[in-house]
Amino acid sequence: MTDKPMNDFDTLQIHAGAEPDPATGAVQTPIYQTTSYVFRDAEHAARLFGLQEVGYIYSRLTNPTIGALQTRMAALEGGAGAVCCSSGHAAQIMALFPLMMPGRNVVVSTRLYGGTITQFSQTFKRFGWSARFVDFDDLDAIKAAIDEDTRAIFCETIANPGGYVTDLDAIAEIANGAGLPLIVDNTTATAYLCRPIDHGATLVVSSMTKYLTGNGTVTGGVVVDSGKFDWSASDKFPSLSQPEPAYHGLNFHETFGPAAFMFHGIAIGLRDLGMTLNPQAAHYTLLGIETLSLRMAKHVENAQTIAEWLEKHPAVAAVTYPGLDSSPYKERAKRLCPKGAGALFTIKLKGGYDSCVKFVESLKLFSHVANLGDARSLVIHSASTTHRQLTEEQQVAAGAAPDVVRLSIGIEGASDLIADLDQALNAAS
Ligand SMILES: *Cc1c(COP(=O)(O)O)cnc(C)c1O
Repeated sequence: MTDKPMNDFDTLQIHAGAEPDPATGAVQTPIYQTTSYVFRDAEHAARLFGLQEVGYIYSRLTNPTIGALQTRMAALEGGAGAVCCSSGHAAQIMALFPLMMPGRNVVVSTRLYGGTITQFSQTFKRFGWSARFVDFDDLDAIKAAIDEDTRAIFCETIANPGGYVTDLDAIAEIANGAGLPLIVDNTTATAYLCRPIDHGATLVVSSMTKYLTGNGTVTGGVVVDSGKFDWSASDKFPSLSQPEPAYHGLNFHETFGPAAFMFHGIAIGLRDLGMTLNPQAAHYTLLGIETLSLRMAKHVENAQTIAEWLEKHPAVAAVTYPGLDSSPYKERAKRLCPKGAGALFTIKLKGGYDSCVKFVESLKLFSHVANLGDARSLVIHSASTTHRQLTEEQQVAAGAAPDVVRLSIGIEGASDLIADLDQALNAAS
């Protein structure tokens, strides 16, 4: 079974991590709805707790359904290992936790999901961490923001609310030069459109809530480790490269090599932070991923068609889709996401804020929700919702100005979506 030919993305999304159930032969990965696992004997239990043997102890740490999903996500992103957790936001904490200490900082892009900006700028303070927001098109500003206390660089592949593509190769070069890991949030591209590890990322985080599950049923997050970062090259990452007091002095990097980050994430991150995914949610996500490539191809095809149509509509002032000739990020998108520039973008309405509100209320097929990456098309006015906690300056920098509406294009028929957009634009102008 282990020598199955599995090189194609389309094959990996169905088979990676999934073996027939050893007890029954069930072809679909069972939902292991259990909190704990019977130890063979006392010696077995002791070996599991000492990490001398890999196995199942308690579902806050490990669970076979979640294990299958971790293996699949690592395979799709081209990483050495993965840790799943309860949401995309949990994944961001889990990615940073082994690297950070009070007084340390991360250098981050100004163009991020609104919730991430709030998490980084407000909640991090409670941990004694700080985030330095920089325009990631200004490479010198990124270099200038890095200091002795910086422990990571963080950005999104295609930044939510859409339209901006980060030059991952250029950012990775800076991270590499500074001896720092680059963490990339790949939620809006998914591994199908872009694999950040191929462009130099150390860690890839994703909200599985979005395209990966793809049907708006569960929240989940994942951190995939490239396994390529040398945690021992400096003394900046003692939790990984030196004896870890939280795990009776175990040196994770020395003991587990390229799997160090993953073991740390499970043995300490999930153990002590407890942001664990549940097996039911892992099941929905595994099902969703089986059709990821088919869905993403349709998402990007619809998005391209609709963005081109919207750009010509008299009520529309601008469309930010990076697949358009008018986008300043068209070439970058082609290089990083050759299969398509995602399905998330904003439109600016000539009628301003009031028009945006009327437009959102007039749409019939698009659902007005705080989500993206669903099979159905979604709409939101970011400035009054997801980016509401931000100052107007932050909103504009994040691409969520008061006169723009964000669209997440689903996989319905493009002509129906266009008909709905047309009637709502006419009602709003
Ligand atoms: C939704 C989202 C998150 C947060 O994920 P949750 O699963 O909602 O916690 C993080 N980053 C991006 C780009 C997102 O779209």
